[in-house]
Amino acid sequence: MARVKFVCGNWKMHKTLGEAVALVDGLLASPIPHVEVGIAPPFTALHAVSKRLAGSKLVLAAQNLHFEAEGAYTGEVSAAMLADVGCRYAIVGHSERRQLFGETDAGCGKKVGAALRGGLRAILCVGETLAEREAQRTLEVVGRQLEAGLAEVEAGRALDVVVAYEPVWAIGTGKTATPAQAQEVHAFLRGRLAARFGAELASQLRLQYGGSVKPGNAAELFSQPDIDGGLIGGAALDVPSFLAICKAAG
Ligand code: PEP
Repeated sequence: MARVKFVCGNWKMHKTLGEAVALVDGLLASPIPHVEVGIAPPFTALHAVSKRLAGSKLVLAAQNLHFEAEGAYTGEVSAAMLADVGCRYAIVGHSERRQLFGETDAGCGKKVGAALRGGLRAILCVGETLAEREAQRTLEVVGRQLEAGLAEVEAGRALDVVVAYEPVWAIGTGKTATPAQAQEVHAFLRGRLAARFGAELASQLRLQYGGSVKPGNAAELFSQPDIDGGLIGGAALDVPSFLAICKAAG
């Protein structure tokens, strides 16, 4: 069965309520057939955006979650709360979370488990730094992040995980991995998924590429055999550029 491509916009810490709703309304005006399209607004806009999305095919994602179900965790948000507000996905282990907020491989594994138990799907981000790539440690690093991120995932829930390969050196820098560089890592990741869950499940799992995807490079990246869409940062903040990237996946 062919994998449905999935393009998700990560809005990071951008957009007030009014700006978020305006962006969503712009996206809703041009539905994209044959591609799953998601958006991950900041927590403050989730409820308003969720209401706007009612009846549409656009899916809502959270940018982060806590790994406990509830409790005294000031400032944190649980999977059940995110599902309750209408989220279908949660992004886990984005490199900004790992680098700026000290998230660990093991913590990401707990978050993926919490997302699945709480009724969400997880977008698990993996990716190497420039120093790691230059030291030829890319596959070792992403392999380690993948294993740890999947620590709590049983085969029966494997298809509720999307893996996003995001080389850290390509995020927000304007430097994109070449299609061949990205495909090499995606093929490696699919091989590791096959070893973990079996070839049949691995062939159905979706692997996104992220890192300076733009309208001008999206089609070539998305046409690689193991690239099933993208996680988009800067270019997702603008209706025409995000729609052009989504169309490139169709
Ligand atoms: C991201 O933050 O996940 C990302 C890929 O950002 P950008 O597209 O801006 O590089």
